[in-house]
Parts: sequence; structure tokens; C-alpha cells
Amino acid sequence: MTPRPPIPKRRAPIPILVYHQTTTPPPPDVRSWRLTISPDTFARQLRALRAFGFRGLSMRDLEPYLRGDKVGRVVGITLDDGYLNNYEHALPILQGVGFTATSYVVSGQLGGSNVWDHAAGIPATPLMDVAHLKTWLAAGMDVGAHTRRHANLLECDAASARDEMAGSKRDLEDALGVEVRHFSYPYGQHRLAHADMASDAGYLTATTVVQARVRRDDDLLLLPRISVHAETTIPLLLAQVATCIEELRQLRRGVRPGDWTVRPVYAGEVSSRGGRPVH
Ligand SMILES: [Zn+2]
Repeated sequence: MTPRPPIPKRRAPIPILVYHQTTTPPPPDVRSWRLTISPDTFARQLRALRAFGFRGLSMRDLEPYLRGDKVGRVVGITLDDGYLNNYEHALPILQGVGFTATSYVVSGQLGGSNVWDHAAGIPATPLMDVAHLKTWLAAGMDVGAHTRRHANLLECDAASARDEMAGSKRDLEDALGVEVRHFSYPYGQHRLAHADMASDAGYLTATTVVQARVRRDDDLLLLPRISVHAETTIPLLLAQVATCIEELRQLRRGVRPGDWTVRPVYAGEVSSRGGRPVH
């Protein structure tokens, strides 16, 4: 009997979650309320993911799954801005469930605070310093870059955008002594040209806040993520990671799966990396 060729494994969409602060939430009229998750809620969410067979992974640990070298029930865990409350609360919870995570850090504010938020009336909140980040790394977690000063790249000229992106990688590598391979666009604001700059700077991936799961052919430098908010319930979170609920929401807006790497903000732009045609 002729042996049958192995059935190729189909890679399921990969959800990448994005958190911000993990601490006691402020009153709902404070603008950071929506992006603040209590440590209890964070722990319940991670335990629920684990109970449903998901393994939470940092961007570094997710690399082989994104490349298609490995398949599995995995979910990316990312925390933007590098808040000290992630070190205090999220780190022991991640270790307790055996997950890893990437903290995207603003390299010009190590040990500082979220100064970029102050004008919007968001309270000052301390950020991890070099010693915290070294302990974070030693615990098996990962550090990514989030520019030098949490720059809105749409407001930067090309030279300063390049400096923010390449500079934050260099700053963090010098300070921490590790390679920084992953980048997150501040405010989720970016153009196709910024994905090219991320590639030029040597990043392997860059993440946006386009709400969807990563599909097999998505551009590694324009990866969508799913934002976890204060009002995200566990049933909603599980639906967001395990079903196509977010892709359906995008479809209702007229954005087809995969188009988030070219639309709507990229209409009319051309990528030097030969991006897919713009509709
Ligand atoms: Zn940010």
C-alpha cells in the first residue's frame, strides 16, 4: 500500500492580545479607566485561556508560530508602554500560569512616567526602569520597543520617525544587553512607510491596534491585535480569541480579512517591500 502523504496542518488564525495597565482601576470618569485591568481580572482571563487549551506567549516565543514553523493553540500576550504595575502585578500572574509576555517599552522614559498622556488629563503612572526590565527578562519575558518618546508617527517627518523606531531599538539593546526584535506603533498610528522603516531598523514584527486575529498571509510588520478593555468579559475574550467575531466586525465595516494590512489608512500608499495591491 502506498503511504499517503501527510495531511498539511492548517494554521489557525493567531490572536495577539494587547493590555496596558494591570492595577486597581481608577474611577470610570478617569480616561485611563478603559485601559486598566485589575490584577484579579487579568489572572481570571489568563486562567480561562489556559482552561480552554491556549498557551499565552510573548512575541519572541510566538515567532515560530507566526512564521508557520509551528502550529498550536497559542495566543500572543503584549503589554504596551512598560508600566511598573505590569511588573508588580502582571509578572507574578504570568509566571503562575506559565505564560510569557512582551512589554513594549518607551526607551526615553525608562524609570519615568507616561508623560505623553499628561496633556490628555491621564494621571502620571510610573514605568519600569532598567533593573525592572532586566528582572522581567530574567523571568523569561520579552521586551519590545515602542519608540523613544511614545511618538505619534503620523506627526513625525521621515527622519524623526526613523530615529524614533531605530533609536528605541538601539537604546534598549544598549541598556538591556539583549536583541530587541519586536515593535509596537504608539497610539496604533502608522502608515505603510513605517512598516518599511520597521523592517529597515531590523524588527522582525510590528504590531498595530487593528482589531483582528493574525492570518497566515498577514504582513509581520502590520500585525493586528485584540485590545482587552475594562469592559471585556471572559466570554467575550474567549470569543475574540477562538472565533471569527472580530473579523466579522471588520467585514461589517467593509474591511475584508487580510485587508487590514492595506486598508483603510494605507489607501494610495506604496510599500517599498512590495505590499499587496491597494483596493
Ligand atoms: Zn502606547
